[in-house]
Amino acid sequence: MTQQEAVVIIGSGLSGYTLAREFRKLDQTTALTVITSDDGAFYSKPMLSTALSRGKDAVQLSTSTADEMATTLNATIMNHTKVAAIDAERRVVKTSSGDVAYKSLVLACGAVPIRPPMEGDAVDEVLSINSLADYARFRERLESAQRVAIIGPGLIGCEFGNDLINAGKTVTIIGPDPYPISGLLPTTVGRALKSALSTQGVEWYLGTTATAVNSNGTGYRIMLDSGSEITADLVISAVGLRPNTALAETAGLNVNRGIVTNRFLQTSKSDIYALGDCAEIDGMNLPFIAPMMAGARALAKTLSGNETAVEYPAMPVIIKTPSCPLVVLPPPRDAEGEWSYEGDGLNIAARFNDVDGKFMGFALAGDAVSKKQELTSLLPAVL
Ligand SMILES: Cc1cc2nc3c(=O)[nH]c(=O)nc-3n(C[C@H](O)[C@H](O)[C@H](O)COP(=O)(O)OP(=O)(O)OC[C@H]3O[C@@H](n4cnc5c(N)ncnc54)[C@H](O)[C@@H]3O)c2cc1C
Repeated sequence: MTQQEAVVIIGSGLSGYTLAREFRKLDQTTALTVITSDDGAFYSKPMLSTALSRGKDAVQLSTSTADEMATTLNATIMNHTKVAAIDAERRVVKTSSGDVAYKSLVLACGAVPIRPPMEGDAVDEVLSINSLADYARFRERLESAQRVAIIGPGLIGCEFGNDLINAGKTVTIIGPDPYPISGLLPTTVGRALKSALSTQGVEWYLGTTATAVNSNGTGYRIMLDSGSEITADLVISAVGLRPNTALAETAGLNVNRGIVTNRFLQTSKSDIYALGDCAEIDGMNLPFIAPMMAGARALAKTLSGNETAVEYPAMPVIIKTPSCPLVVLPPPRDAEGEWSYEGDGLNIAARFNDVDGKFMGFALAGDAVSKKQELTSLLPAVL
């Protein structure tokens, strides 16, 4: 066991590496260790759902190896090393390569794909894509696949659907929702997206769930609860992610949907912090880049001796569906009010006003995405 004074980060995704970079801008001397169960290569996860039509494979998406990151960050990168547990009393993490001591520990261990409950002899062959290694497997399997079925018509499912159709594949998207990305988009904008992707050739099975996936010679048969049956050469599941809280539980930290932290990203143990997809910061689990960057900048200051609370401005989400470009800043979940719409066809600006007429959120499609800055500037900070 070494380096009692080290800052230790678990996870080499965008959260772990962004924090390490921000920390090194402020502190060049404290020992810094990143422990990761993957290979520790740097890549930008949002690019996974646009890489196919941009002609980039998994190797090209990785822009630095673990060794290069170690040099850039003046850090020890322990890759292919899984953390099994945290002993918060002794300030030690237990890994597959031995114990590692810490002064401050940051959990940046991401989220895990939710697998829909399905039956059938090929359920284990359904792919989820949430890492570079998953992406490499997807591209390998795609070489012999023309018809791709995507279970989950949310943001990730629609982005992959658009990328696949642009690359000449045949795409079917399945899910219980009434229209795509119904968790973020108002009806009219969701329908515009559906219509744009249908024009490109996407086939939809909405209002129904997949109940079973069975092999069918070289491909698969997907059974739906509506009684329909679809055949495909490759099946992707994109039904959502849940924060990875397993390690936090071994340390006895407070866990709700994500690892519970205050605005200093501090968990229920004062020397353990959480950031990114795994964290629930001041009651919010926001699995997007903008809040993660704001958190990384604040936490880097705290870890270098200047305690800093995270601040979130209004943060729109860009949805990478080039057939119908979208930007959304959804109103708070509990907001009561209504959507109003301007424009038609694929070019729609939707605004949400609460019952007192206060502007609370927006969704923009097509040409209307040019209103992003103007509308964002009218919305209050989130934190
Ligand atoms: C296809 C796709 C497209 C996206 N597009 C956008 C977008 O356009 N805009 C946007 O804002 N957001 C987007 N997101 C979300 C965004 O990419 C994520 O919020 C962000 O990348 C999460 O980073 P993270 O570091 O928190 O988690 P991850 O990238 O999941 O990293 C988790 C790390 O923890 C490690 N780890 C986990 N458990 C252990 C353990 N026990 N021991 C050791 N290591 C462990 C893993 O190996 C990994 O290195 C997208 C997500 C996906 C999947």
